[in-house]
Amino acid sequence: MAERSFPCPICGEILEKHEGKAECMFCGEKEEADYICPNGHFRCEECRLAGPKEIIERTCKNYDGTEPIELAPLIMKHSSFNAHGIEHHLLVAPVILTICRNSGIDVSSKKIKTAMKRLEDIPYGACGSRGACGACESAGVAVSLITGASFRSGEERSLALRTTSNSLKAIAEMGGPRCCKQSVYASIEQAISILKEEYDLDDIEDFKCPFAGDIEGCKEERCIYYG
Ligand SMILES: [Zn+2]
Ligand SMILES: [Zn+2]
Repeated sequence: MAERSFPCPICGEILEKHEGKAECMFCGEKEEADYICPNGHFRCEECRLAGPKEIIERTCKNYDGTEPIELAPLIMKHSSFNAHGIEHHLLVAPVILTICRNSGIDVSSKKIKTAMKRLEDIPYGACGSRGACGACESAGVAVSLITGASFRSGEERSLALRTTSNSLKAIAEMGGPRCCKQSVYASIEQAISILKEEYDLDDIEDFKCPFAGDIEGCKEERCIYYG
């Protein structure tokens, strides 16, 4: 009987037989691996079975860099992420909080959980039906949690509102149809730009979308993240 071959769920290359442990690309844990992708992609069992919230938490906990271009697309490559969907609302705030934590700002892992709780009730398509994209609100949540804003605050509340409104403006100017990947990139950029006014954060690398052309509704040359 011919041996079966399995494609890598991340990049499509045929998995190769492997002996010993391999490091999970999401959480960094090492686990016995029978197969591994020639490009090094390996997912531990817990990450393989994780839903969006769990994979966001596990990956953000392990990530020690300061580049959203590394962290956000990595999580969006997980099988629990669709081309478009409400899981993108949950993603933006944890990515921003993680970049801030790794840049020396005091961000506890509890804040990542709190952020996702605040965002889980935003329905799919809210950009069109409410005029408020969940990814933009997610950027506002991150800034609110970092500054400790509430409806009673002054400057902190203004920073959160400006983050959401700048993100919405950026997305509105990019035109339709919706692309949840584009909204994630634009919201993270706007939040980092606002946070840089108050905190010592490095410049971030420009996003280049690794999903470009592969997803339904991709605006291709009409998108600044294409190519
Ligand atoms: Zn692969
Ligand atoms: Zn893992």
